[in-house]
Amino acid sequence: MRHYDVIIVGGGPAGSACAAQLTASGMKTAVLDLAEFPRLKLCAGWVTPEVLDDLDIEPKHYPYRLNTFEKLRIHIKGLTFNVKTTQHSIRRFEFDNFLLNRCGADIFNHNVKNIQRQNGKYLVDDRFSGDFLIGAGGTRCPVYRTFFRALNPRAKERQIVAYELEFPYEWSDPRCHLWFIENNLPGYSWYVPKKNGYLNCGVGGFSDKIKSNEDDIKKHWKQLVHKLENLSMVTDWRSGDAHGYSYFMRSNIDTLRSDNAFIIGDAAGLATLDLGEGIGPAVQSARLAADAIMGETEYSLNTIHAYSPIKPWLRKWLEGRLTKKMLRKKRREDINSAVAH
Ligand SMILES: Cc1cc2nc3c(=O)[nH]c(=O)nc-3n(C[C@H](O)[C@H](O)[C@H](O)COP(=O)(O)OP(=O)(O)OC[C@H]3O[C@@H](n4cnc5c(N)ncnc54)[C@H](O)[C@@H]3O)c2cc1C
Repeated sequence: MRHYDVIIVGGGPAGSACAAQLTASGMKTAVLDLAEFPRLKLCAGWVTPEVLDDLDIEPKHYPYRLNTFEKLRIHIKGLTFNVKTTQHSIRRFEFDNFLLNRCGADIFNHNVKNIQRQNGKYLVDDRFSGDFLIGAGGTRCPVYRTFFRALNPRAKERQIVAYELEFPYEWSDPRCHLWFIENNLPGYSWYVPKKNGYLNCGVGGFSDKIKSNEDDIKKHWKQLVHKLENLSMVTDWRSGDAHGYSYFMRSNIDTLRSDNAFIIGDAAGLATLDLGEGIGPAVQSARLAADAIMGETEYSLNTIHAYSPIKPWLRKWLEGRLTKKMLRKKRREDINSAVAH
């Protein structure tokens, strides 16, 4: 049995960002991931400048594909306009591998199945033991399943289902396009060019609403394929197969830490409420959990944005609305519980 100060389950952006901070402060850290890296991760690969800042990545020094957009091309119900903003695209295949390799932790290709708490330690599959345990295993994280699911059942209405394909393609339109609420999709579809001949296209939306419309995400994917072909934006899909995945947007999460176990990133369901951005909140939660382990602060989500920072004034307004909504909900719950007593 190998013993570590901290065991991190999952080597995506959440796991590797947390590991980097812990190893830098001298903690003996292991990252366990069922996949061998570099691995495929379904994701459009859009990252904000804040994410790169948080990860100490200077865009011009990043050694893999990184594209910068100075505006986004937005389409809503037939209207098209540009939003000025600086955003980036990366390939997760490269990005996650880069982050994991530089994090300084011991990395194991291991599918975590069984976790137990014994005598104040976490035992993982009778192979690893740790004083602290971090659940960074995404939507299907075994740490979430073992210690947090009963405490934080996931909010079905916040589940996003997405379908996408990333493939080598010599794109001729270098702009990043987003189409909102097309064909009654409760979400949006995207066309994200990557540097040096890669392209990512996909559709995503609220799973519950798609079901209640008796609709299907694969149908929306086919509609996107037809549209891009009709617009001559994509003429050859290289017979690649698109794939689906689901993850959760931010909801009221009661427990993020239980004894010395934590959940971060998608394991906690932290994607933003407007654009489903998950990498930023994954990295931010990772840093906060590492701070908490190093004894500096409590682990709380208060400082993590619930909306994507494309326009700071818009985010501020949306977060103001969210806070008011949450306060109203809390007041209703307090009244109900007072009445019940
Ligand atoms: C189609 C799609 C498009 C998206 N586009 C964007 C985007 O453009 N920008 C953005 O910010 N966000 C996007 N997201 C969300 C984003 O991908 C996630 O929020 C982000 O990857 C979360 O990072 P994470 O480290 O928490 O989890 P992940 O990146 O999912 O990493 C979890 C890791 O845990 C490992 N793991 C799982 N189970 C086990 C186990 N039992 N044992 C060991 N290891 C395990 C997995 O192999 C994986 O490597 C998108 C999501 C989807 C589905």
